[in-house]
Amino acid sequence: MTTDDKDDKMARIDPVRYSLDSKFKFKCHKGVKCFTKCCRDINIILTPYDIIRLKKCLSLSSEDFLTIYTEPQLLEKTDLPVVTLKLLDDELKSCPFVRDDGCLVYSDRPTACRYYPVGVAALSHKEGSDGKDFYFFVNEPHCLGFEEDKRWTIAEWRKDQGVDIHDGINAGWTDLIVKKRSFPQNIMLTEKSKKMFFTASYDAEKFRQFIFESSFLTLYIIDDKTLEKIRSDDVALIEFGFRWLNSVLFKDGALKINEEAAAQRIKKE
Ligand code: SF4
Ligand code: SF4
Repeated sequence: MTTDDKDDKMARIDPVRYSLDSKFKFKCHKGVKCFTKCCRDINIILTPYDIIRLKKCLSLSSEDFLTIYTEPQLLEKTDLPVVTLKLLDDELKSCPFVRDDGCLVYSDRPTACRYYPVGVAALSHKEGSDGKDFYFFVNEPHCLGFEEDKRWTIAEWRKDQGVDIHDGINAGWTDLIVKKRSFPQNIMLTEKSKKMFFTASYDAEKFRQFIFESSFLTLYIIDDKTLEKIRSDDVALIEFGFRWLNSVLFKDGALKINEEAAAQRIKKE
């Protein structure tokens, strides 16, 4: 990775596929002239674990966080409903969390902010991705971090930024997206399926209510240990949600069904 193209005035995605061992030179700190420039006019897709971290950091419910800070979007080539960070209506289209001295939610910042200036193909839906992760660089002319001397491999960068933890928790969700992307684009999801995807991905309280206060537990056989965990642990809940979505959308048998209850439901419907 070089900065030979720094005169290029257009932001661009480096078309080379990088691996975890690929090396690059980069450092971001408060002393760089471009400090916080990358926090304006951006399109940040939020992952389920991002919402869990951010709502907790701001002491909000998922619903309130989604209403105040996000905008709905359909993810390109998948028809899946996702949310992006809602930018301020100021001249620079700033992130709502950017301040002169940095990021207000830094320790809980979203996955995409942690990765930057690296991108991961599994979440970006690059043409030609076969479902295996590869990495690329976002070369924006304003970003002077590439001129600093600190050297990394992409694996080291991910660990340093805590992205490995985010990716590990979101793995089941990324898998759903990659699976849906591999389907022919004319296979559309029903509105009900999209709603299920959205709730299980982003609204932990509503999804928990759905599990414990509907007929969910008569239809699915869930062991007591799992039930106890998802009752109070948001991370366990979203990971369970990814398994459930796989089971409902892709019939992968990830969850055990009570056949008798399922037959009764079909008869009723
Ligand atoms: S969340 Fe923080 S790091 Fe990410 S764009 Fe906003 S201010 Fe910048
Ligand atoms: S533009 Fe690059 S170097 Fe500047 S603050 Fe953002 S990430 Fe850091």
